[in-house]
Amino acid sequence: MSIRIGNSCVNCENLGPNDVCKVHGVKVSNSYTCDSFDMKAALKNDPNCVTCARYNESDCANPSKAAPGMLCSHWAPQNAQA
Ligand code: SF4
Ligand code: SF4
Repeated sequence: MSIRIGNSCVNCENLGPNDVCKVHGVKVSNSYTCDSFDMKAALKNDPNCVTCARYNESDCANPSKAAPGMLCSHWAPQNAQA
């Protein structure tokens, strides 16, 4: 199983005000995730290099091809916590 840095509560649609999870009713943080994770629509609807945390960074998987509108399987949302 691959480890994904984007699947944390901070990128989850179910994260409510004051960092309280709407599904579990407890306070969570960007270090947590669960099987109910649901990526925020704003993130999953626009995955391309410009919205990728790795764009122009040393951990970009395809630095010679990365460009606006391009996408690869290593895409990660910009507010992901490593
Ligand atoms: S549903 Fe899971 S991943 Fe989403 S905020 Fe709650 S605990 Fe975090
Ligand atoms: S090539 Fe992949 S890792 Fe690099 S910026 Fe684009 S989506 Fe991200």
